[in-house]
Amino acid sequence: MKVLYIGGTGRTGSTLLDRILGSAPGWFSGGELAFLWRHGLVAGGLCACGSELRVCEVWAPVLDAIGRDAPIDAQRMVDLRRNFWSIHLPLMAVPGETKRRLDSLEEFPEVVERLYNAVGDVTGCRVFVDSSKEPHYSMILRERTDLDIRFLHLVRDPRAIGQSWSRRRSETGHRDAVEMERRGPLKVMGYFNVSNLAAERFWRDEPGRYLRVRYEDFVENPQKWLAVIANFMGEDLDLTGVLDGKMFTPGPTHTVWGNPNRFDAEPRPIRSDDAWKKEQSKLTSLFLSVSTFPVSSHYGYRVVGKEPKPLAAEVNAPVHSPYDWEETWEVVKGWQGWMREAQGKALWNAAERVKPGGQIVEIGSFHGKSAAVLARSAARSVTVVAIDPHAGNDRGPGEWDGAVEDGQADNSAFLANLASAGVADRVTHVREFSNLASGLVEGPIDVLYIDGAHGYGPASDDITRWGSRVVVGGELFIHDVYNSLFVTLAVLRHLSFSRRWRYVGRSRSLAMYERVDLGVFGSVRNLALHLASLPWFVRNACVRLLRTLGLEKFARPLGHVPGEGMY
Ligand SMILES: [Zn+2]
Repeated sequence: MKVLYIGGTGRTGSTLLDRILGSAPGWFSGGELAFLWRHGLVAGGLCACGSELRVCEVWAPVLDAIGRDAPIDAQRMVDLRRNFWSIHLPLMAVPGETKRRLDSLEEFPEVVERLYNAVGDVTGCRVFVDSSKEPHYSMILRERTDLDIRFLHLVRDPRAIGQSWSRRRSETGHRDAVEMERRGPLKVMGYFNVSNLAAERFWRDEPGRYLRVRYEDFVENPQKWLAVIANFMGEDLDLTGVLDGKMFTPGPTHTVWGNPNRFDAEPRPIRSDDAWKKEQSKLTSLFLSVSTFPVSSHYGYRVVGKEPKPLAAEVNAPVHSPYDWEETWEVVKGWQGWMREAQGKALWNAAERVKPGGQIVEIGSFHGKSAAVLARSAARSVTVVAIDPHAGNDRGPGEWDGAVEDGQADNSAFLANLASAGVADRVTHVREFSNLASGLVEGPIDVLYIDGAHGYGPASDDITRWGSRVVVGGELFIHDVYNSLFVTLAVLRHLSFSRRWRYVGRSRSLAMYERVDLGVFGSVRNLALHLASLPWFVRNACVRLLRTLGLEKFARPLGHVPGEGMY
C-alpha cells in the first residue's frame, strides 16, 4: 500500500489537506496516526466519526486484525515511541544516532506496518494519507517497514503558524473537552526550524518520494496542487461532489487524531487564514520571521513583506513522469510519421518543463508519435490536447487530398498507438480541423506544436490563431520549416521579424520559438537567424529537384541519404 505522509511542523493546514485527499475513492485518511496509541487508545480519544476507536466501524476491525495473534499493548507502543521522540531530532546530526534510535524501537515498526496494511484490507484503499507531520516518525516507516511511503512536506508562513498556536481553542478529540495546547513564539520558532530542517535532511536525497507544497499556494489553486499530489502518488484523485471550486464538502472520515476541525461537517471554503496579518503584534511577527529566516526564506517567506515570493521555476517544476526518454523512443520509433529522434527529444524536454496544471496543444497528430512523446513526458496534471481531423488530407509529403477511409485508418492507428504507449487516457483528441477547433480547447497554452496542414493559409492560421494563446515563457514548435515551401513562407511572414517570438533554433526542419516580448534588437536578431537557415532550405529544394529528376544519388554530397526524408 502507498502511504502519503504529510510532514513538517504543526498548524500548516495539514488536517484540511488530509481530509480533502481522504475523501477521494481509493484514498483513506487516518489523520495523525502517530498519535493513535497515546491519544486514541490509552486516553480513549474519539475517531472523527464520533465513535471511540474500539467501536468505530473502521478501527475496531483493524485493531482486531492486528491483535489477533497477540494482544497489542497500547501503553507499550507509547513507551517504545518515546525512544525516538521530537527531543531526539537535534541528535540526528550525530553519526549512527538515527540507527541507534531506530533499533531501540523493537517491535514498534512491525506492529505499525501491520496496522497500515490492516486498514488497506478493511477499507480497500490504495493510498493511506497520514498527517502525523513528525519527520522522525516518517523515518521509522521508511527505514523499518516495507510500506511505499512518500513525503509531502507542507510548509506555511511561520507568522501564520504562530498565530494559530496562540489561539485559545477547545480540544474535542477527547470525550471531556479540554483546552488545546498553545505554544508561544519561542516554541513555535524552535519547532519550525527543527522540523523543517529534519524533514529536508531525511528526505532530500529521495527523488520522486519528496514533494514540497506551500499552504499559501495550495489555497490559491487547490485543483492544481491536488493534481500535483495525485501525480506524485501515481494515482487518480477523483473529488467529484467533494470539491467544487474552492468549496469543500466534508464526507464521513475516520481520522484518529488531528486538529479538532476534523470533526466539522459543514461545507467550508478553502482559504488562507491570514488573521495574523491584522491581529498579530508587530513584535511577534518580526520575531517569528527573523528567528526562522534561514529556513523560511528558503521557502520564499519574507521578513517584512506579508506575501510569500512567487515560486521559482525549479521549485515549481513538475513531478517527473514515470517514463523516460530512451524507453519512450523505443516505443514510438517504429510508428508511421515524420519525426526524428532529436526532434522528439526536443518535444520531450519542452513537455517536461510545463508546470503543473499547464496545457500542451499539438496540431496534426497523424498516428500519434509526437502526441505519445508529449503525453509520456508531461506531468500527470498537464493537459495534452491533440488536434487532428483524421480526414485523409495532408497525410504526408505531397498528399494534399485523400480518402475518408485513409483518415479513418489513421484514426484507428492513432488510438491503438496511444493505447500501446499507455497514454490513451492522457491525450484529449479533438477530431476537427484546427481552425474550427479553437473554440473546443479552453485556456492558455504552455507548449504548442504545429505540424498540421502544410498549405500557406492553414499554416499561417495555425501560427497566428493558436500562437496568440501561448503564455509568456511558453514554447512553440513548428515542423517542416525549410522543408515545405508554404510552411517556410508562413514562418517567414509571421515569425522572422516578430517581437513576440524569440527564435531559439531548429533541429533540422523543427523550428523552436519562445514566447517573449522583444525589443528592436531582438526582432533583428530573429530575422538574421531565419535568414541564416535559408541555405538549408535551398539545399532541401535541390534534393527535391534531384529526386524528381530521378537523380537522388547525386544529392549525397549535400549530406542527403537517398530514400530518407528531408524533415
Ligand atoms: Zn471512525
